[in-house]
Amino acid sequence: MTSKIKEINVIQKPKSSIQWRIGLVYPNSYQVGMSGLTIKLLYSLLNQHPNISTERIFYSAKDPRLPTSLETKKNLHQFDILAFTFQFELDYINAIRMLQQSKIPILLHDRSSSYPILIAGGPTVTINPGPLLKIFDLFFIGEIESVVLEFLQTIVNSKFKSLRDSISSISGFYYPDIKFEKWFPVITPDLDKVPFPTAQVRPLVKEKKKGSLNGFFLQITRGCPHGCHFCLIGKAFRPMRERSLANLELIINKGSIETQTNFFSLIGSSTAEYSKIDQLIDFFSSKKLKFTLPSIRMDSGIKLLEKLNYSGQKNLSVAPETGSEILRKKIGKNLSNQQIKDFITNAERNGIRELKFYYIIGLSEDPVIEGQQIADFTQELVDLFPSIRFKLSVNPLIPKLGTKLSSHPVNYSSIQEGLEYLKLKLKSKHQFKTFPIEWATIQAILSLGGPELTPILSSVANNGGTLQSWKKILKGNPIEFFKSNYQK
Ligand code: SF4
Repeated sequence: MTSKIKEINVIQKPKSSIQWRIGLVYPNSYQVGMSGLTIKLLYSLLNQHPNISTERIFYSAKDPRLPTSLETKKNLHQFDILAFTFQFELDYINAIRMLQQSKIPILLHDRSSSYPILIAGGPTVTINPGPLLKIFDLFFIGEIESVVLEFLQTIVNSKFKSLRDSISSISGFYYPDIKFEKWFPVITPDLDKVPFPTAQVRPLVKEKKKGSLNGFFLQITRGCPHGCHFCLIGKAFRPMRERSLANLELIINKGSIETQTNFFSLIGSSTAEYSKIDQLIDFFSSKKLKFTLPSIRMDSGIKLLEKLNYSGQKNLSVAPETGSEILRKKIGKNLSNQQIKDFITNAERNGIRELKFYYIIGLSEDPVIEGQQIADFTQELVDLFPSIRFKLSVNPLIPKLGTKLSSHPVNYSSIQEGLEYLKLKLKSKHQFKTFPIEWATIQAILSLGGPELTPILSSVANNGGTLQSWKKILKGNPIEFFKSNYQK
């Protein structure tokens, strides 16, 4: 599928200038990878040196052929470095399948120096590299921008034989080591001082099809000032930082021309708290450019609703996390039910017609009660705001290592009961989505686990990476495996 896609801003360098090749591996589909900022940002950053060519490689579950790069159809062997970026724990299995399909030994100690150097990075690796320690040559922990030029220059100045050692001396890069608790993430201190791509690679999608593949991805903030007890961003990517308005205006002006679009997706975990959000929205309006905001906090986001009315936005995503105000407080989300109602009152007044509510279930010891609280709260809101369409996304808690809830008792069988109860109560009156409980359990295993998982990952990948293969390897029951290995 990917080979037929026409794209703009693909980077091509004269063959004669290329000394080193980096394969930028996104171990999920083209559709998923290109619907976010990460791959576009890394592609641009890793192509900054004229003598290094970086090409993108995606995973296709449907295509059993050798994974190859999008740009020149090179297979994994033909790169000097393979830089994997992991956004979701479940992508670990896709990465291993890509190595298997390419006949690259999975285990670090089985690979000779004739193979590319494998580097793992991304948010899930930053918080817990454990399950991949026996697989990758090097790990990058944190945000790459402030060390990317040093990384590229180091490559160009090195011989392949000494490359791994040279890279490991750059801050944020580590050799696999089970004492990874002592690794420190590199954080970009000033977003205005690092480059941001204005000519973003993107597929040419027909206006009518639009959706998440189209448009320009504009990161306005990074990190989050809040510390919700379950959240990876609030834990690993602190403090909250923002781009200056002047810089953003420059990026928007150039970006709309170079990326050939008038549609901007604003990125950031706390966009409503961006200190110049009002002026930024005014700037979009003055230029007649369209934009969308990601999920916004209902306390700080309330002030934006009037502005969003002018922009014509009719739907929004928000995350109350639980139906209970007490539980919400307990998990560090300081948002009262009254604040939620005030937000909806204002949203309704300002033309919002649809609200998507994100909930997590499994935050307390009784998920059935949590299901009931979500159902009751939804009914209360429906009665109060009949003109609003409520959509629900209710997902099982995935404990993240290092967060306050990492050792919280999670019983996926009770969560399943809570979800079934909730479904029954809602009686298909609202669009209701959830993440399948068995996949959530597997994600939790990968989120908390360590190098002991390598043989399991390898066997699951050998068996196709499907849910059936996980069940077979975990002796039929991921929930039991999680309970006996990762719950004290
Ligand atoms: S859940 Fe949202 S508000 Fe809470 S710490 Fe994470 S990003 Fe911040």
